Amino acid sequence: MPNSEVITHDVIIVGAGLAGSWAAMATAQQGVKDVGVLSKIHPLRSHSGAAQGGIAAALNNVRPVPGTGPRGPLEQIPVGDELVDSTELHMFDTIKGSDWLGDQNAIEIMVNDAIDVIYEYEHMGCVFSRTPDGRIAQRRFGGHSAPRANYAADRTGHVLLHTIHEQALYHGVKFYAEWYVMDLIVEDNAVRGVVAIDVLTGKIHLLRAKAVMFGTGGYGRAFKITSNAYANTGDGVAIAYDAGVPLMDMEFVQFHPTGLYQHGILMSEACRGEGGYLINKNGERFMEKYAPDKMELAPRDLVSRSEQTEIDEGRGVMDDGQGIFLDMRHLGREKILERLPQVRDIAIDFVHVDPIDDPVPIQPTAHYSMGGIPTDVHGQVIADASGTPVVGFYAAGEAACVSVHGANRLGTNSLLEASVFGRRAGYAIAEFIKGGAKLLPVTGDPAERSRQAVKELLDNPGTELVEDIAQELKANMTMNCGIFRDEERLNIALDKVHELQQRFKNARVMDKGSRFNTDLLATLEAKHLLTFSEVIVKGALNRTESRGAHSRTDHPKRDDEDWLKHTIAHKGEDGRPQFSYKDVTLYWDRFPPQERKY
Ligand SMILES: Cc1cc2nc3c(=O)[nH]c(=O)nc-3n(C[C@H](O)[C@H](O)[C@H](O)COP(=O)(O)OP(=O)(O)OC[C@H]3O[C@@H](n4cnc5c(N)ncnc54)[C@H](O)[C@@H]3O)c2cc1C
Repeated sequence: MPNSEVITHDVIIVGAGLAGSWAAMATAQQGVKDVGVLSKIHPLRSHSGAAQGGIAAALNNVRPVPGTGPRGPLEQIPVGDELVDSTELHMFDTIKGSDWLGDQNAIEIMVNDAIDVIYEYEHMGCVFSRTPDGRIAQRRFGGHSAPRANYAADRTGHVLLHTIHEQALYHGVKFYAEWYVMDLIVEDNAVRGVVAIDVLTGKIHLLRAKAVMFGTGGYGRAFKITSNAYANTGDGVAIAYDAGVPLMDMEFVQFHPTGLYQHGILMSEACRGEGGYLINKNGERFMEKYAPDKMELAPRDLVSRSEQTEIDEGRGVMDDGQGIFLDMRHLGREKILERLPQVRDIAIDFVHVDPIDDPVPIQPTAHYSMGGIPTDVHGQVIADASGTPVVGFYAAGEAACVSVHGANRLGTNSLLEASVFGRRAGYAIAEFIKGGAKLLPVTGDPAERSRQAVKELLDNPGTELVEDIAQELKANMTMNCGIFRDEERLNIALDKVHELQQRFKNARVMDKGSRFNTDLLATLEAKHLLTFSEVIVKGALNRTESRGAHSRTDHPKRDDEDWLKHTIAHKGEDGRPQFSYKDVTLYWDRFPPQERKY
């Protein structure tokens, strides 16, 4: 690999999705102008741009037509009329959705900041869909008791990301597109910078900063069927964990009920929010049995489990019985073209079905990572269960765990979380820098470790193909650590992860070049998948209860006595995860734990 140079900024942000871009813009807005953002892909290809359905905030712009029930048609709320939504209700829905594992202080901040963040987007020129009188349009989403998803047709993430990216550029933020971060430098519990490969040249650089923020996104790519972009390989969580930072609640992985059959590509929850049905092979709307009140708009964990039960009991569709039908025909051509144009194109392109004419085959798909790098409500990363800060290190968005989603996230709360806590991290970073933060010294050349690691990978004459290892891992995670889990399967999953970690040592990188060595990057990504998958599986094995997206058939009940607590995993000296636990922040007088029924 060619030699490198040292690059210095006040602030380095890794990730150009909503969380990273908001943090960068907010930092610069507050007067700290020397901000560099690294992204392993073009910033506008960050997965935030793929979000379809909406971003939550209790704006109170629409309601169901009175007398038609909670699933009836929507109408605009006349000015001065009775409101149907509130931040209190948004807070309760989120807590209930989280199966009481979300920290209620953080959720309260999120629902309150939500309104302001949406108007800030609007004032920056974001093109939301509109009600006839020009207010921001809203639709229903699963687990929300009022229409609360603010949207731009079915390309909400695209318009939000473009808006915030433009603003970050306007404020002078410097973007490093196609720079792959491979190490985080922490000494004496304080951050010093990162090490990254410039993908174009192959040079490995040390980047020094007073503060580093990770907005590196989720890790759905550890599973075979996933809605996530190829880039969502959880690099940030694995890199932080390897640097001694803990990970929180990693066992909670969300499966979205409507991924395209065999592809996993998302059919937005907006399909059901707009009124779509789920049908089994007998033509039954089976959600009647599982969530008689909310039906298809129950939260995702519940709907995915219901689908999987129908499939496992032989009522699935398609030749192998592994699908379910999403039926939108009754919505009519006009509504589908206006509200769900992208979803329609995806169904036509990938399964050759036009939702206007036919039901679309779907199946549950790994979608969202509730766990991640633990932070406080200012994006400050914490080093242990007692809340000791990792000085100068911040995280937000899907890579982080505040935790607002607890054991299960509600749809549209994630674009919101990335925006709210990305912005808050930006404010906190600006304060930290303006408060006199220093560029701390480093011992030796911290980039040397990465250079050595890359050299070893390139020189390894091994016989294993990285792609085979990654595919086996994904199949294993889907089969043995998926929607339904039990001790036997989780033990199989753990043995397999250990076996693949061993085999990885014998992995061979075919491309020995330096420019655009995507083979090398895929190898580093596979290593990251193997690192955090172990934490997911071991955390799932330890947690002998069912809560939110973590469903143990051998422990089917939620167990508040023993498990109303967050999981914290550190990398031990033997390289294996070591677990401790942390209390959930609950407002016992306002939202005490209840049974979760829909
Ligand atoms: C198909 C789909 C639809 C969704 N729809 C919705 C929705 O309607 N509403 C909702 O609320 N949520 C939705 N979500 C979830 C939501 O989009 C994400 O959780 C959120 O956008 C994550 O934002 P982020 O900024 O944390 O990460 P991302 O947008 O994923 O950005 C991650 C960034 O990190 C960078 N990065 C990662 N690793 C490295 C590395 N090693 N070096 C350098 N850079 C790196 C990437 O280049 C990228 O810029 C959806 C998710 C998917 C997959």
